[in-house]
Amino acid sequence: MKRRDFLRTSAVATSGLALPWSAALASITSRRVVILGAGLAGLAAAWELVQAGHEVVVLEAQTRPGGRVLTLREGFAPGLFAEAGAMFFTDHAQYLMRLVQHFGIPYESIFAPSLPYAHGDALFHLQGRRLRVTPDGDVDWPYELTAEERKLGPFGIVNKYLFSAFAGMDAPVSGTLPDWLLEQDDKTLLEFAAERGASPGAQKMIRHGNWFGARSDTASAASTLTADLAAIQDVAPLAFVGGSDVLPRAMASQLGQRIRYGAEAVRIEQGRENVEVVVRSVGRQDRVVADRVVCAIPFPVLRDIEVAPALSPAKQAVVNGLQYHCVTRVFLQMRQRFWENEGVAGNASTDLAIGEVQQQPPIRTQAQGDRAILEAHARWDGEPPALEGMAEDERLHYVLEEMAKVHPGVGRYFEGWQSKNWQGDRWARGAYSLYRPGQISSWLPEASRQEGRIHFAGEHTSIFNTTMEGAVESGVRAAREIDEG
Ligand SMILES: Cc1cc2nc3c(=O)[nH]c(=O)nc-3n(C[C@H](O)[C@H](O)[C@H](O)COP(=O)(O)OP(=O)(O)OC[C@H]3O[C@@H](n4cnc5c(N)ncnc54)[C@H](O)[C@@H]3O)c2cc1C
Repeated sequence: MKRRDFLRTSAVATSGLALPWSAALASITSRRVVILGAGLAGLAAAWELVQAGHEVVVLEAQTRPGGRVLTLREGFAPGLFAEAGAMFFTDHAQYLMRLVQHFGIPYESIFAPSLPYAHGDALFHLQGRRLRVTPDGDVDWPYELTAEERKLGPFGIVNKYLFSAFAGMDAPVSGTLPDWLLEQDDKTLLEFAAERGASPGAQKMIRHGNWFGARSDTASAASTLTADLAAIQDVAPLAFVGGSDVLPRAMASQLGQRIRYGAEAVRIEQGRENVEVVVRSVGRQDRVVADRVVCAIPFPVLRDIEVAPALSPAKQAVVNGLQYHCVTRVFLQMRQRFWENEGVAGNASTDLAIGEVQQQPPIRTQAQGDRAILEAHARWDGEPPALEGMAEDERLHYVLEEMAKVHPGVGRYFEGWQSKNWQGDRWARGAYSLYRPGQISSWLPEASRQEGRIHFAGEHTSIFNTTMEGAVESGVRAAREIDEG
């Protein structure tokens, strides 16, 4: 089967290297490189470049590394923490796994996708009804389904119309998309499912009965099949035992003083000999001169950075036009995992404005005792859900009321809350990139394309966009461009 060398990178070897990919970077000339952003993309680029003998400075506007890998630890009871950003990955994420293994970061599987009932009966709240699903139970799904779809239920429907498409086909591997996947760029995931026979009711089930449903009617199917479906196909979801931020923190501590925190890049000036970045820190402004820049910050933030001379019109159009998903996460601390007494999972898929319900932390430890966090995970990319425009107190009451529809009695166990709204985060301005139909073919190559001395990294420049894997892959790709170019 044909594989399109989509982003001019090649697949990493799957064995043999002691350090991730570094042997592939055979630098002759040491370059001075300034990296904008200490998210996973910037850190991966820095790590690679340092291994290859280059001189690196990372400018990070915040006082911590990790960007959208953000573990909230303060303000919860002992042993509890909440992932406000990235939480899950699988061992299909080969770039990420190499870093995880190199830095010895502990992780565990949550449960196998083939065992959706491992943490109790599955829960849904759809069309105004709470639905509890046992492995062999007969559920009256509130959608018009064919007799076969009714029997299959939500997990069977995803297997039949989506996962089965991968049988006998090439999988996407780091930087390359097989042709069959690229051909799905002209449609959404729901249109793809419809082509494969999904009834309108089954499409609604895919949209509201799965965590990836929020992107299924707006994003390119080439993107969702690659970043969401291929990533979880036939493997168990994994999570970091001590919180996702352990990985960027481990990388950052190795990079040490090469990272400047509280350093906001405000202007990039390219010249014939070098490139200069104007940096604003508390109380001062200075310049960092380098041979190359890796710009590893989200495009909505880049829009406000001056670039001289200006980026090409084609690149600027993508920087200005690329949309981002909106995500608001509300974390409710619970005195007890009371849902376990009922024999149901903490997690639930809903079509309520609170979105997906998730139990956190994803890996249970002794230290958290009987407590846990129930999270409302609202995602959208059009009209905002009701909770978005509310004042804090009003939002809490609303979320508690909605959560009670899924987990009756939640108010009795509620102890406190925190929330994270990614569109309001000035260093992200959105949760993750949204490539609409047609844009994986036309915009993604442009997003990742080098402009003179400026290289571009970040999840939004990878075929695994929206993921940690995409961020790491893009950082390695940018490092290679610099090392080889
Ligand atoms: C709600 C949510 C859930 C997610 N869930 C998952 C998941 O379960 N699994 C998964 O794999 N992925 C998940 N992701 C995606 C994952 O977190 C991202 O793809 C990845 O972390 C992005 O890394 P990055 O380096 O590209 O960007 P970022 O992490 O955004 O890093 C960019 C960095 O640049 C800094 N910066 C911005 N502007 C400037 C400036 N002017 N000067 C200097 N520094 C600047 C920022 O502070 C930030 O540290 C999720 C993301 C969100 C938001």
